[in-house]
Amino acid sequence: MLCSACLLGVRCRYDGRAKTHPVATPELERLLRLGLVVPVCPEQLGGLPTPRPPARIVGGDGQDVVLGRARVVSEDGRDVTSQFVRGAEEALAVARAAGCREAVLKSDSPSCGAGRDRPEAPGEGAILGVTAAVLREHGIRVLDEHAIGDSLCGGWRKRGGGPAGDPR
Ligand code: SF4
Repeated sequence: MLCSACLLGVRCRYDGRAKTHPVATPELERLLRLGLVVPVCPEQLGGLPTPRPPARIVGGDGQDVVLGRARVVSEDGRDVTSQFVRGAEEALAVARAAGCREAVLKSDSPSCGAGRDRPEAPGEGAILGVTAAVLREHGIRVLDEHAIGDSLCGGWRKRGGGPAGDPR
């Protein structure tokens, strides 16, 4: 499965830091050691430096960006739409090369946000990012990082668990 690199401790965020999750990250690291996780940072793959100014989608969501109806603009006013789209395409290429069928992505990111509200935390993860939109469009199941407890750990274990239930 594909995974946002910052969730695995890679310091690839706009502020030069990682953003791990207390539940998701240990499980993802375990799967990484088993060779079942492929870390990617779409913003870096799109050619953006680290650190970089934070960016946001203007005029819609990630799907609108892909369709040319919205833009991604950085805090310093630069249009970084093309870098975000390129990063999404590169992430898709990696997913295809590795045979990934699922992706666990960082919430609330203009690239990786899965675009789903969670009843227990309204608003969190609600942004649909450009990469999440592209992956979903191409048949890859996109999971928010917070889904790790049920959809990811529970689901895989019900299907056979760990390496036997290869989540790719
Ligand atoms: S683009 Fe995705 S992987 Fe890269 S820092 Fe942002 S949320 Fe993390």
